[in-house]
Amino acid sequence: MLAGGPRWVAPALAVAAGYYLAARLGFVFTLQLQPVSTLWLPNALLLAVLVLARTRDWWWLLLAALPAHLFAELQSGVPSAMVLGWFVSNCSEALIGAALVRAFVAQPFRLDGFRNSGVLLFAAFGAPLASSFLDAALVRWIGWGETPYWELVGRRFFSNLLAQLTVVPLVVTWAALLAGGLPRLRAARCVEAALLGAGLLLVCLLVFGVPPPSAHFAPALFYAPLPFLLWAAVRFGPTGIASALPVMTVATIWGAVHGAGPFTAGTALENTLEMQLFLAAAAVPLILFAVALDERLRLERESRAQLTHLSRVATLGELSGGIAHELNQPLTAILSNAQAARHFLANKPGDSEMLREILDDIILADERAGHVIERLRAMFKRAETRHESLDMNALVREVTALAHGELTTRGVQVTLRLAERLPRVNGDRVQLQQVLLNLIMNGAQAMVACAPDERFLTITTLATGHKVHVNVTDRGHGFSVAPQKLFEAFYTTKQDGLGLGLSISHSIVTAHRGRLWAATRRGGGAAFLVTLPALAPA
Ligand code: ADP
Repeated sequence: MLAGGPRWVAPALAVAAGYYLAARLGFVFTLQLQPVSTLWLPNALLLAVLVLARTRDWWWLLLAALPAHLFAELQSGVPSAMVLGWFVSNCSEALIGAALVRAFVAQPFRLDGFRNSGVLLFAAFGAPLASSFLDAALVRWIGWGETPYWELVGRRFFSNLLAQLTVVPLVVTWAALLAGGLPRLRAARCVEAALLGAGLLLVCLLVFGVPPPSAHFAPALFYAPLPFLLWAAVRFGPTGIASALPVMTVATIWGAVHGAGPFTAGTALENTLEMQLFLAAAAVPLILFAVALDERLRLERESRAQLTHLSRVATLGELSGGIAHELNQPLTAILSNAQAARHFLANKPGDSEMLREILDDIILADERAGHVIERLRAMFKRAETRHESLDMNALVREVTALAHGELTTRGVQVTLRLAERLPRVNGDRVQLQQVLLNLIMNGAQAMVACAPDERFLTITTLATGHKVHVNVTDRGHGFSVAPQKLFEAFYTTKQDGLGLGLSISHSIVTAHRGRLWAATRRGGGAAFLVTLPALAPA
């Protein structure tokens, strides 16, 4: 029951305030001499709220809108029976739409993918249509005004359809964004969003807010905001287009209400309908376009992450022999220590000091094995990209420890030349480890044909300006093609190579706003250089 107290008070107040403001705006968006608003927002707001809420909370959310409805409508001199009738039809619209969405899409609703956006657009169309029959019947039954039944159905439908297309995507995309914690946007992105918003508003005001130069120009003017809307859809996805469309809708209606823009040639009724059709027809394909683009980018991101993971697993597979060797050492140490302990217990049961030393050795060996397994597990796991402040020296040590067994088996001597004071970098630990592991393994493989005492691999770290560099140099066979060729996907000179390691490493480093490139080493061999932007010292 309502014993939940404070938990429901804030949402209920928000719904009431939102409903009231939306109704006041609806009155503002009414052309002179017109009984129906061009853009009736409250029902759409209710629908969006229900889509986001749990089904069991629907009833009290609708109830919260009642005082706001009465307060807004009773001021306009409409009979109270009609005011209540409208509340019923408004709620029925929100309920029909939200029930449609709930029936086909699992909670929480997100405007992504064709299924979700298709269901939402269907609800935005079906809910106003179905409820308009009821609404017009109530108006005729109560006997308010003279407008014929079918005309009422048509006018209410278009007014509410446009509102649904304007409000629901806006509310659901922003709710999803806020629920996920607002992403920290880079300054350039904020500037771009501001420029886009200002440009769109300016064009809309110029096109829809001043009288058209001539009736022949009017059709061409409709396309003026299109570049900005496409910009919003391409660069900012569904949230971008859901935020840009209301700007155009409001500017268009505001212009028409003030007798400006291209929708002023006919009667008030004709102008309203023309404007609603134009705005609704623009909204649907643009929303679908943004969703389709977003879906494609998401799939691309996903398959890239999958490929990155697969290539990491493949590299780790190459290490498996060395890792087994690496684990064997501590395991053998544990076994021989345990045997020694048993021997002591049989012969000198009182020597507890000796036993403690043996147990300490066992713990140390166990920890060594544990570290190897822990690092391996982190690299095998497929996790979301997670950026953190990292010490590249520590990363180099971790990766060389992981590859230690394999490098020893291959007879490669590793020299670490690590800078003493290295600024930290911001990055994904596992991904950057993958890059280093790749470069180290490539270096080791390039020296297969070298004499055993010439297999030297050097890893150097260095800081210059605001950058951190890691350099992996080998004395192997080097390469004779242009360096950028090595980073092409599927380029390989190895019999069982995939040719993906360097290409993936390159995209990982680029995603970290860094650079990865290759050079031949004087005296033979290759050098691979990773440069990453340094974090400002804390
Ligand atoms: P793969 O290791 O599966 O071949 P990579 O993308 O890691 O895939 O490497 C692509 C190619 O780049 C290798 O086949 C090799 O010809 C060249 N390459 C990579 N690292 C070195 C290196 N250290 N020295 C010489 N050639 C290298």
